[in-house]
Amino acid sequence: KKEARKESGPAPSKQPSQPAVFIHVDRLPEMQEARLRLPVLAEEQVIMEAVKENSFVVLCGETGSGKTTQVPQFLYEAGYASGSGIIGVTEPRRVAAVSMSHRVAKEMNLSTSLVSYQIRYEGNVTADTKIKFMTDGVLLKEIQKDFLLQRYSVIIIDEAHERSVYTDILIGLLSRIVPLRNKKGLPMKLIVMSATLRVEDFTENRKLFPVPPPVIKVEARQFPVSVHFNKRTPLEDYSGEVFHKTCKIHRMLPPGGILVFLTGQAEVHSVCRRLRRAFPFRRGRTATGEVAEAPTDTAEEMRRFKKVKLKKTVSLPRIDLDNYSALPVDEGDEDRQAGIDEEEGSDLELGDPPADDEEKADPSLPLYVLPLYSLLSPEQQAKVFRPPPPGTRLCVVATNVAETSLTIPGIKYVVDCGRVKKRFYDRVTGVSSFKVTWTSQASANQRAGRAGRTEPGHCYRLYSSAVFGDFSLFSEAEITRRPVEDLVLQMKDLNIDKVVNFPFPTPPSTEALVAAEQLLVSLGALEEPPRSGQVKEMERARLSCPISPLGRAMASFPVAPRYAKMLALGKQQDCLPYVIAVVAAMTVREIFEDLDRPAATEDESSTLAQRRARLTQMRRLWAGQGASLLLGDLMVLLGAVGACEFAGCTPKFCEENGLRYKAMLEIRRLRGQLTNAVNSVCPEVGVFVDSKMAPPTESQVVCLRQIVLAGLGDHLARRVQQEELLDPKWRNGYKTPLLDEPVYIHPSSALFKTLPPFVVYQEVLETTKMYMKGVSAVEPEWVPQILTRYCHFGSPLEVPSPWFCPSTGRIKCHCTSTFFRCGWQLPAVEM
Ligand code: ADP
Ligand code: MG
Repeated sequence: KKEARKESGPAPSKQPSQPAVFIHVDRLPEMQEARLRLPVLAEEQVIMEAVKENSFVVLCGETGSGKTTQVPQFLYEAGYASGSGIIGVTEPRRVAAVSMSHRVAKEMNLSTSLVSYQIRYEGNVTADTKIKFMTDGVLLKEIQKDFLLQRYSVIIIDEAHERSVYTDILIGLLSRIVPLRNKKGLPMKLIVMSATLRVEDFTENRKLFPVPPPVIKVEARQFPVSVHFNKRTPLEDYSGEVFHKTCKIHRMLPPGGILVFLTGQAEVHSVCRRLRRAFPFRRGRTATGEVAEAPTDTAEEMRRFKKVKLKKTVSLPRIDLDNYSALPVDEGDEDRQAGIDEEEGSDLELGDPPADDEEKADPSLPLYVLPLYSLLSPEQQAKVFRPPPPGTRLCVVATNVAETSLTIPGIKYVVDCGRVKKRFYDRVTGVSSFKVTWTSQASANQRAGRAGRTEPGHCYRLYSSAVFGDFSLFSEAEITRRPVEDLVLQMKDLNIDKVVNFPFPTPPSTEALVAAEQLLVSLGALEEPPRSGQVKEMERARLSCPISPLGRAMASFPVAPRYAKMLALGKQQDCLPYVIAVVAAMTVREIFEDLDRPAATEDESSTLAQRRARLTQMRRLWAGQGASLLLGDLMVLLGAVGACEFAGCTPKFCEENGLRYKAMLEIRRLRGQLTNAVNSVCPEVGVFVDSKMAPPTESQVVCLRQIVLAGLGDHLARRVQQEELLDPKWRNGYKTPLLDEPVYIHPSSALFKTLPPFVVYQEVLETTKMYMKGVSAVEPEWVPQILTRYCHFGSPLEVPSPWFCPSTGRIKCHCTSTFFRCGWQLPAVEM
């Protein structure tokens, strides 16, 4: 207790006192018993005293020590939700917000109308809600509506160690909001919870907290975990190695759950399938015999285990698609229910290796294999918390979510591939890519710690100790490796004009902030900086441009600025319902199933090739012909949404037409949400969600293409012309303002064969080549009209059509008085 006090430094003089009420909670006896075992319970008094005496408190404790589930309950019992304010808890992951709210409701024996959650598209919050779990993005939006967050008496920022962008921003904002509230006599508390002890970014940041907040440590009852490194480090087929190691553990080691760490959803499913094939287990059939006949002497067992030589690594063969058709799916429909994991990205489905690489199927050792990743449906995900069927061993194959957000009971063995999948974004070129990289030492240790929750455990690292030594100590804060224009716009909307001065726990680079402001100025969301001679002056001015009325409208839409701009322009020519549908579809990841994925329900006569041909044909139909084809991939999205809604958005329709059911439901919700947002910004439009949306007319398609150009103006690409074809690599290539290398239209694009002279794209994703995704054709003569702020205007003779200026990356256009400053009315241009 003393320690906590000591670390707090001088306590702020006047602190509003804690409510002197104690609210009784009527827990079920078994719940009460379970929670008494959690280490955080021993610290309840220390925590609550620190919260009483300080506005800011930092709480660190091992994953599984009970922070997320218990601290909200402490606060509730101490009366923090009994007045007008409620308890808010933010999570960086949707899956955690939902599952933790259910868990806490259950532990407290309260209904979900009292302990509720809110995530981007859904929630069960009521007027009676006392504890509200939400994603950090949801709270950020609420700050925009009510800067003082008057609904809350306390905010808990959970999983702060993940350093998600919104979490970082929230801590920065709350460091200002809490003192303001206290000044107004509406006391408020902020509790930052973290799984690691590395909290200096928060506590030692004097810009953030002038007085360092107290840090309370929860000592978890952690059992020793022996860490076993590989001698070698497999560079290619690590998921094969993961599979073999898991098989060995299951065959040879005493009972105890296995937790496997992989990087993405496809890998998780592939390893799950291989494990299920190797150790078949079917629900409803009780397994005969013991789980493992291994001797109880673990040390002896370990020695034997180590002697087993690892098989030579074989690299995965090229995609073998027909392997899929014979897959046993004993748990029903995981594969179909799987959404694309936002954080982990979609990845190429690799065929499973041929049968001779497989372990022999061994039904005498049933293994209960469960996948776990962030966008798995809550029902599927809840399975990991339940004990495995009798006679089986639990094996959870997970992505990073199992590292800290969720604690799975009964894990004794951890298999760690040592890698993590991250989205990388090149700020200069705007190219993004998903890359699998080594994880950090801190996260490898977190992963290992999962094995020692209930008894001593073992962690198998599939890399050498030398490789581990080269890992970075900690993972970087997300804010340093992603574009920040959405954050800058939201901050400007909160009237934080000088974003550079914002107390970020880890500030993004000035370069990133300048790029964001430039984009927002180009989109018209910020007022243009005054033109002054001094370069330095301009730099400074550029970083403090105030928000424009258009920017305010854009900030109220829950989508990135480029898309918000499209919504803001959408009311022309009654295009709004289409713009809403397209924007919704563009912001939901991967609405199409992989063409090469086998159907879940089709009869055997339909082969993969037939299915592929049928789906391709369908997408071609959605793309339309003539004028509508020029809207390209966005027309395909619109066609898919329209057709799916027309058919009532059923799982059957989605399955038959290669659409992800879950994505389509998200689009539907987002359309509703965006429609409400548009109506509240400009009520005179009176748009409504029309499920039977008729296809757009030709002139509407033209208008849509212009609106898309207005939003994606900095993503303009020009096809390389014949006379420029010095290097054959430029064949069918496109030139963009900032890249030296060509980018290409992806073969799956509706415009792959058309190759229009000018296109805009949603993003460039680097795989085998740099491919543009989400491509629409635009007309060169629109460029100077619509992208005025992007253009330099030269003399008519200088450039025949818009051209990229190599030195500035801007678009060069010829100048006529009608083109210049023509404003935002977008007349339908004659085609
Ligand atoms: P922390 O936030 O410190 O990581 P949690 O509060 O999330 O810890 O978890 C405390 C304990 O509650 C863990 O042992 C975990 O296994 C258990 N737990 C959490 N959610 C569930 C659930 N849905 N079902 C069963 N047990 C759960
Ligand atoms: Mg937690």
